[in-house]
Amino acid sequence: MKAEREKSLLGLDIQELTELVEGSGEPAYRGRQLFQAIYGERLQSPEQISTLPQNFRRSLLDQGYSVGLPTIEKRFVSSDGTVRYLIAFGDTESVETVWMPEGDYGEAGDGTEAGDEEEKQWQRATICVSSQVGCAVGCEFCLTALLGVKRNLTAGEIVGQVIAVLNDQQAFPGRARLNLVFMGMGEPLLNYDNFMKAVRLLVEGVGIPESRMTVSTAGIVPRIYDLGKEAVRPKLAISLNAPNDELRSRVMPLNHKWNVQALLAAAREFPLRSRERLTFEYVLLNGVNDSAENAKEVLELVRGMRAKVNLIALNPGPGIDFSTPDEERVLAFQQVLMRGGVPAFIRKPRGRDIYAACGQLKRTSS
Ligand code: SAH
Ligand code: SF4
Repeated sequence: MKAEREKSLLGLDIQELTELVEGSGEPAYRGRQLFQAIYGERLQSPEQISTLPQNFRRSLLDQGYSVGLPTIEKRFVSSDGTVRYLIAFGDTESVETVWMPEGDYGEAGDGTEAGDEEEKQWQRATICVSSQVGCAVGCEFCLTALLGVKRNLTAGEIVGQVIAVLNDQQAFPGRARLNLVFMGMGEPLLNYDNFMKAVRLLVEGVGIPESRMTVSTAGIVPRIYDLGKEAVRPKLAISLNAPNDELRSRVMPLNHKWNVQALLAAAREFPLRSRERLTFEYVLLNGVNDSAENAKEVLELVRGMRAKVNLIALNPGPGIDFSTPDEERVLAFQQVLMRGGVPAFIRKPRGRDIYAACGQLKRTSS
């Protein structure tokens, strides 16, 4: 099984593909043709790559190469149009990837309204991408945490999720406004190198601009500094989720390692591009972190930063010992931030009925 994954073309960058073709005695420009066929045209087998000569296609197959796209094992369609995909890899591990037509993740507050005609259905969509099988971080309110971490995804597996979903939806970056949010299963910054390679392949190969991508982290502080130094990178969202160390350590054990002060220092030093804002995510847990007092604390933390706050009322699930605040409390929390001059948006849950919403990804297979 391992050998199969090692022979995947998906995940190789232009240099690696060029080395591969040269190793087979082909001219270097064939590397670019392969790159374009795999990531741009999203072909599924070397046989389909008509820009390559027949004998080279055959030689790739003889050497055991495949494109290596993951397979869509299951699809769950929500009443709101969200689709939760169960996507399987060569070793039988699987993750979830979520398609949200007219998605508002990462786009909240940009003021645009999508039309509602049929053909516009996915002129705008967001794909929520996983970075690990499970997650090791152990946040108390998150269903993915209950799985523990099985393994990191390879760059090819991260890109593969996006390509599998785009192919299934027949969506093309040139024709639709596609956003990617790395907010699925796992902590992307704990799989940093594979994640960043995937980002570059998605930008350069698949054609999704980095400005349409957002990575969410629970707060792996050293990697936030690394991310800030990258030439090509997504926008940054930080899962704050609590306004002080006492509360944050209670709901996010990783706060013992990197506390609120360290996290906010990294956030303040993060080099934003022009017109870019940081996002702070804040999951509201009824009676735990959602009081007006807590909102004032958040305000003090983020005031003066070029940042917005996305509020997420807890999406409940089995084994999660918190409850969802009612709308009034959520609105009151938002008001405190807004009045203090911090843009705050309430993220509406997508696909809660099919366990596709934030924090609900746990490979529910029915
Ligand atoms: N590991 C990364 C990205 C995946 S989680 C991170 O934690 O940021 C994506 C978002 O979902 C995070 O902001 C997280 O705080 C939020 N989340 C987790 N569990 C949730 C739940 N049960 N309800 C609502 N949001 C949740
Ligand atoms: Fe992992 Fe993010 Fe869930 Fe925390 S919220 S357990 S970091 S996936």
